[in-house]
Amino acid sequence: AETKKYFTRAQYGGRHMVTVLPGDGIGPEMVRYVREMFKVGGFPVDFEEVQLDSHNEDPENMIEAITSILRNGAAIKGNIETREHSKYFLSRNVELRLRLNLFVNVVHCKSNPGIKTRHKDIDIVLIRQNTEGEYSCLEHESVDGVVESLKIVTREKTEQVARYAFDYARSHNRKKLTCVHKANIMKMADGLFLKVCTEIAKEYPDIEFNNMIIDNCSMQLVSNPNQFDVLLLPNLYGNILTNIACGLVGGPGITSGRNYGPTHAVFETGTRNTGKKVAGKNVANPIAMLNASVDLLDYLQLKSYADIVRDAIYKAINIEKLHTLDMGGNATTSDVVNFIIDDVSSQTKIKAYQ
Ligand code: ADP
Ligand code: MG
Repeated sequence: AETKKYFTRAQYGGRHMVTVLPGDGIGPEMVRYVREMFKVGGFPVDFEEVQLDSHNEDPENMIEAITSILRNGAAIKGNIETREHSKYFLSRNVELRLRLNLFVNVVHCKSNPGIKTRHKDIDIVLIRQNTEGEYSCLEHESVDGVVESLKIVTREKTEQVARYAFDYARSHNRKKLTCVHKANIMKMADGLFLKVCTEIAKEYPDIEFNNMIIDNCSMQLVSNPNQFDVLLLPNLYGNILTNIACGLVGGPGITSGRNYGPTHAVFETGTRNTGKKVAGKNVANPIAMLNASVDLLDYLQLKSYADIVRDAIYKAINIEKLHTLDMGGNATTSDVVNFIIDDVSSQTKIKAYQ
């Protein structure tokens, strides 16, 4: 039960149109590799690029991005740096999520035998409310030296993300769902989140439901992560636990993240890093963004193409000399990308002759 999809939109001659937001840092390099791979593989996808980045603060640009994503139904995105002296007060990443009503963020953190990590056999899906809570962007200085930041929790948005999570659990054959909160302190805000999730849980008696306080959950996640199946999270806790979980299965360069709105989706890396320090050096791990492109192909129901890329990524991860710095190796970004593109190329050629 993913969100509604409109596969008939923006297609011409059986091709899909997808918005690309290269963003800052490693974003532009990463989306360039995705485009190259799609081209070499002959995938039926065309790209419409919108330069929504920290150096282009024309508000028309945000509108162009939103219009393009609503028209195409899907986007792939690099992270946008929030510069300190920007005339923009809001993070443009957050603004985009709010204006597109991308109400849920889904990150699947799964151990891979080819990646050395402390814990094995992790398989956790983190489902995060993506538009309210601490990210409501309602802050003000009421009097000098006193700042208030509003954390908004609504029954409507909580029900929406909770239903999404339970439907996801059911359709992906997941057994257990854990609601994470701090309702012992934020009795009203997190209290409502927990109450609504507990109510919705009753509609899904086939899914085991429990809840855990965020501090305990953070500790459990690093000491005994195998107990978790699906996590249902308010916005800020979701941000933090998603980063912890991505770290547990290999770091910022491995896992992808999906954002869904009512009629459209945005695909990006799971940890949403800009990776400014590693940009332009041919050292960043491209796997996370390539995995985001697999998510995109799945969303467009181009399953055979998604499988080809998934397969190529899996092979690359299991070749130690293709491990980048973050994975403890010394391969370059282009070593990894070239291997994957070559593999995609040979797989699509083989399929074409079958
Ligand atoms: P920065 O923008 O300063 O590089 P980020 O918050 O974007 O920091 O990223 C956090 C850390 O993860 C940084 O050390 C960054 O270099 C690293 N990182 C992010 N993405 C990747 C990647 N794809 N490959 C390797 N390292 C990465
Ligand atoms: Mg950064």
